[in-house]
Amino acid sequence: MKEKAQKIVGVKGMNDLLPGDSHRWLWLENKFHLWLKQYGYENIRTPILEDTKLFTRSIGEVTDIVEKEMYSFIDSLNGDTLTMRPEGTAGTLRAAVEHNLLYNATQKLWYIGPMFRHERPQKGRYRQFHQLGVEALGFKGPDIDCEIILMLNHLWKILGLKNIELHINCLGNKEERAIHRQALIEYFEQYVDLLDDEAKRRLYTNPLRILDTKNPALQELVMNAPKLIDCLDNDSLCHYNGWKSGLDALGINYIENPRLVRGLDYYNLSVFEWISSDLGSQSTVCGGGRYDPLVAELGAKDNFAIGYAIGLERLLLSLDAQNSLPTKLSPDIFIVNEGNGTASYAMLIANELRKSGFNVVQNLGGGSFKSQFKKADNSGAPISIVIGENEVTNSQVVIKLMGEQTQEIVNCDLIVEYISKILK
Ligand code: ATP
Ligand code: MG
Repeated sequence: MKEKAQKIVGVKGMNDLLPGDSHRWLWLENKFHLWLKQYGYENIRTPILEDTKLFTRSIGEVTDIVEKEMYSFIDSLNGDTLTMRPEGTAGTLRAAVEHNLLYNATQKLWYIGPMFRHERPQKGRYRQFHQLGVEALGFKGPDIDCEIILMLNHLWKILGLKNIELHINCLGNKEERAIHRQALIEYFEQYVDLLDDEAKRRLYTNPLRILDTKNPALQELVMNAPKLIDCLDNDSLCHYNGWKSGLDALGINYIENPRLVRGLDYYNLSVFEWISSDLGSQSTVCGGGRYDPLVAELGAKDNFAIGYAIGLERLLLSLDAQNSLPTKLSPDIFIVNEGNGTASYAMLIANELRKSGFNVVQNLGGGSFKSQFKKADNSGAPISIVIGENEVTNSQVVIKLMGEQTQEIVNCDLIVEYISKILK
């Protein structure tokens, strides 16, 4: 006897999206499409695999992502060094530069898709997760910085998302960050015995990231560390103040958080995060900011860039916690049939109804009326159509409102009209 083959299961931290949930994603994606169009954004689709150098150069060598989260490998067929994209900004900007999209032009681009990071899987943190990202290229700001926040604030309203807070900060420019970096090193050097291993390791490589530590024992030390805002000069302060007064004028609330540094190296000036209070420790739903220096870093002329990414699993988790997600859509009509010639007659009726825009599921594969009615019930359709041999002979159908006793015999040519009245 043939031995039963061993079951193959999915990769850890990479989830299947089953029909019980996928309708929520489709609902979300439909909302995104309409909303993005309202702000003039166009879709861009770039490959999942990129040259590893793209990420090491853009995200930064001493960041969590590049140090320990990337799925990088050598293509054994040709020796190329490749990485499965951990985020979408680098690839989008690479494509914009490669195809000259920034030549004397601005671009408003959006993408959606899976990202890959080798992290410890837990609620709100997966190895394959999904982001919707927006990148506005070639705009100096701070007006675009305001519009970016305005559009997100609008999105939360469209989706009915509550309990979400906006945190903002200004990361200044390279020179200001260098002064701050030096001040941080000198400050943390005084307390080196209190630092944990990770902070010690970061001290001379990327001390800014110590501010982002989740270690509760370091919170007080970090609270009192020198603040970047005190190292900013006029231009940066002007940009920051312009952004804030724009948000004030729009009536958008925000919390200034001098410790907000973001996990990637390429940011400058405006940075922000939207934090949900319904998510526990994986609470950032959306993060973004300006990354002007990255444009030149990827080989184009100096230019401006700002963008953000929304983590879709976390967005759906918070909407779910607030009961703001739609229930699964049911068909309008379920057709049951039994007897000679009834199946093909039912298919013609279903076809006519679909042409009129109804969502119709026909019982396929036979079965008794009883078992078919059970399926009709399970489908959630409010109406069932019943077809036996008599109905075929008389060019009629029986229409039944689910959950009610009454039913009606209706002539074929009147079905659409009859059902339209019920479902209007
Ligand atoms: P975190 O601090 O939670 O690790 P991050 O700073 O690494 O987040 P970003 O690179 O800014 O995250 O990505 C933008 C958004 O993508 C996050 O705010 C989050 O919603 C989502 N995200 C990031 N990593 C994951 C992951 N491993 N699983 C699920 N969602 C993620
Ligand atoms: Mg992370």
